[in-house]
Amino acid sequence: MGRVEGKVALVTGGASGLGAADSAALAREGAKVVVTDVNLVSAQAVAQSIGGGAIALALDVSSEEQWIGVIAEIEKQFGGLHVLVNNAGVVLNADVEDTSLEKFRWVNSIMTDGVFLGMKHAIPLMNKSGGGSIINMSSVGALLGYPIYFAYSAAKGAVRSMTKSVAVMAQVKGYKIRCNSVHPGAIETPMVQQAEGRPGQVQEIPAGVLPHGTPGHPDDVAALVVFLASDESRFITGAELVIDNGVTIRPF
Ligand code: NAD
Repeated sequence: MGRVEGKVALVTGGASGLGAADSAALAREGAKVVVTDVNLVSAQAVAQSIGGGAIALALDVSSEEQWIGVIAEIEKQFGGLHVLVNNAGVVLNADVEDTSLEKFRWVNSIMTDGVFLGMKHAIPLMNKSGGGSIINMSSVGALLGYPIYFAYSAAKGAVRSMTKSVAVMAQVKGYKIRCNSVHPGAIETPMVQQAEGRPGQVQEIPAGVLPHGTPGHPDDVAALVVFLASDESRFITGAELVIDNGVTIRPF
């Protein structure tokens, strides 16, 4: 308990799946959580259910204007910001031949532009607050050839490299800000259910160590997010933390 006590945390895409689990775990460990999402009604439901003074704000991460407004609102309501979880995302099942330029730009407007804008506009307030931790949700798609998620993987690759540039920049400029990327494999969320063509289906996740091929639980990722948000991870920056039950280390 209290591993992120006294910190203010902003989570994007916090209305569902990993973002909702991250928000709940951060609140349980003492953070004041700002649950943001393009879907405000669901973000409000999450903020209400997790308690701990959490609030919900509307934020379409592809809008620079909305980022500026949300950061200003957080400064007004909480006086600072210490943790940014750039989690919002969308998936598109299409290989390079089937991806239109319009769809490619749409995916990247949310996951590449969204992460860029989040870091750009949060860093000044994080600096004013004494520093903090940026956690960018990438994917195993940034590390593998992933033909059926072409635009998605391109965006997640950009998230991976932007993370490292920001981590180094922060050190060069003497900021007390760490920046890491998280790379989940299949975790059972609405996004994965939709991508696999079984929306709304609830899959039982057994307890204990999971055999290869079973999906993980959003709380598995949330545990890593809390660790990266907390000062326990103070010596970790610019890292890519894979959380996939060993999927990417298999030779075939
Ligand atoms: P999800 O669909 O359950 O949640 C995504 C959330 O993002 C939703 O609440 C949605 O409303 C929100 N969102 C979509 N567009 C937005 C926008 N423009 N602005 C703000 N919010 C927006 O999906 P999830 O599985 O929880 O995914 C969360 C993140 O984790 C994504 O970035 C995803 O790519 C990444 N990820 C997930 C998995 C997995 O196995 N679930 C694996 C690798 C990476």
